[in-house]
Amino acid sequence: MKIQMKTPLVEMDGDEMTRVLWQQIKEILLEPYVDLYTEYYDLSLPIREETKDQVTVDAANANKKYGVAVKCATITPNAQRVEEYNLSQMWKSPNGTIRAILDGTVFRTPIMVNGIVPAVRTWQKPITIARHAFGDVYKASEIRVPEAGVARLVFEGEDGQVISEEIAAFEGPGVLQGQFNKDKSIESFARSCFEYALSKNEDLWFSTKDTISKKYDHRFKDIFQEIYDNEYKEKFEARNLEYFYTLIDDAVARVIRSKGGFIWALKNYDGDVMSDMVSTAFGSLAMMTSVLVSPEGNYEYEAAHGTVTRHYYKYLKGEETSTNPVATIFAWSGALRKRGEVDDLPDLVAFADHLEEATLETIEAGEMTGDLVGLWTREDIPAVKLNSTDFLKAIASRLDAKQNA
Ligand code: NAP
Ligand code: MG
Repeated sequence: MKIQMKTPLVEMDGDEMTRVLWQQIKEILLEPYVDLYTEYYDLSLPIREETKDQVTVDAANANKKYGVAVKCATITPNAQRVEEYNLSQMWKSPNGTIRAILDGTVFRTPIMVNGIVPAVRTWQKPITIARHAFGDVYKASEIRVPEAGVARLVFEGEDGQVISEEIAAFEGPGVLQGQFNKDKSIESFARSCFEYALSKNEDLWFSTKDTISKKYDHRFKDIFQEIYDNEYKEKFEARNLEYFYTLIDDAVARVIRSKGGFIWALKNYDGDVMSDMVSTAFGSLAMMTSVLVSPEGNYEYEAAHGTVTRHYYKYLKGEETSTNPVATIFAWSGALRKRGEVDDLPDLVAFADHLEEATLETIEAGEMTGDLVGLWTREDIPAVKLNSTDFLKAIASRLDAKQNA
């Protein structure tokens, strides 16, 4: 008897090599055990073009309706893609569209295996980066200053108040940038982080550059502190968990000296950069889980890497690829586990656990994709490079044993 589901999981299919893996993961690892009940949205670029990107909006709204989604990597079009896919427009990043609709915070956690040692010797547990996914430099206005002149920052209130401040007097050409964020978005960022820390039972760190940015970054710091004091302090203390704020320079030094095992909340840009640093130091982007958590408690699970275009072109030529499916498998297991928890389906939760265990045990037995072979450090177990499909089958044989135990 296959495991039955109660509520549909929102399935967002994607592009290129990850789309190929998506199908294989379903066939080889999921469908033999779970009677998959999904609401399917095809976010591949041709369908986004055909629907004028309505499919992305529909998928995000379905995520809001049902609560849990799993998303495949998708192409974010650039000029070259517009030509390649004969697009009528350079459609926006689907991840950006989904984040704008759901709001919230992206949590990224490295997947650790025995045999791949982090570049930082002291790290024994994963470090989760919580990245604010709204505003700042990503929504900034910029001016290329052409000549001498004065730049001012001006706010005009609805009720007529005007606040104006001189930014700089230019003697000649230069550059200028205006950034913003909103209290409402920072508040939901803070709440998502506190909730996530409680759900993981881990400490929460938060860092900005408030000593230099005395109003902007300071506002982030104050909002976090207010929400902590008013809504979370007791819950954290009851669990012996810690929330602490520190300057980003200090945080970077502490993170490197730490043992890991905590959540590090960061503003949008800091989170973008630090998540690449942390994931690389732990191993690779293909060994990283990523979940968007909205303030209303909606979850979207995805892989942090892209569509692995270079491998896809090899695949199209009929060549074998050794593409790492781990992040995509963990997107599925994360989403199925969450669905199981919300719908009270212990068999589905157990299946998600088994799928993750089987995946890690396969790698720990030395069977892995090419990207991991170079990172392997164990000498007692030789690393064997498998192609994409054989790697999934190697996981399936272990999963089968667990499901039938
Ligand atoms: P990418 O797909 O992440 O791949 C970059 C390189 O990293 C690959 O060529 C490969 O290196 C390695 N790599 C990444 N994931 C891997 C995996 N699972 N297994 C093995 N190797 C892996 O990034 P990209 O080439 O810059 O972007 C490709 C497309 O993905 C773009 O159209 C971009 O818009 C899109 N993208 C989507 C998302 C998303 O939907 N979340 C995120 C980022 C990018 P080797 O070639 O050396 O083996
Ligand atoms: Mg980045």
